[in-house]
Amino acid sequence: RGTTPVSPDERPRLTVLSGPSGVGKSTVVAHMRKEHPEVWLSVSATTRKPRPGEQHGVHYFFVSDEEMDKLIANGELLEWAEFAGNRYGTPRQAVIEHLEAGVPVLLEIDLQGARQVRESMADAQLVFLAPPSWEELVRRLTGRGTEPPEVIERRLEAAKTELAAEPEFDVTLVNTSVEDVARELLALMNVV
Ligand code: 5GP
Repeated sequence: RGTTPVSPDERPRLTVLSGPSGVGKSTVVAHMRKEHPEVWLSVSATTRKPRPGEQHGVHYFFVSDEEMDKLIANGELLEWAEFAGNRYGTPRQAVIEHLEAGVPVLLEIDLQGARQVRESMADAQLVFLAPPSWEELVRRLTGRGTEPPEVIERRLEAAKTELAAEPEFDVTLVNTSVEDVARELLALMNVV
């Protein structure tokens, strides 16, 4: 991570990757970062409980409801949203610091969050990750096997609403292959 500020016109555009739950956002992001660790992925705060293997400070900052209340009240989040019964938000300061240092920043957030970023950062680039088909999305959401049925049901409901938001985005990428989408995303971020 660079610490020397770059001039404002050299600052990278903030890039937001959004799309329905289960579309494969995290897989694309993980693949992209393996090849290009110079892209900085914001670590969100969430009130959701960690899944097996998830680490505090790496995948998320796992916080209590009270801690989340404070982050929101103190204006420390660039955006936040409630998703499937939990709250998620992007710590503002780290995003700003990286952009000011010339580091490309990626947010992987839900649709409501993407809308808020659109409002607060006019030059952000909003990218929609679409499933190849609705059937494929249902298959992926059902097949994860880590969530109880009622949670999957809520996520499918959310996914329906989220799919309808595609026209609000600057760019749509269809997740046919992880490698292709990761490459397209890097190109949009001017990394390759
Ligand atoms: P999961 O619980 O599967 O990790 O994430 C559920 C949803 O929350 C995903 O669509 C993910 O992109 C979104 N999400 C993760 N972090 C944030 C955040 O900081 N803000 C918003 N608005 N959504 C987030």
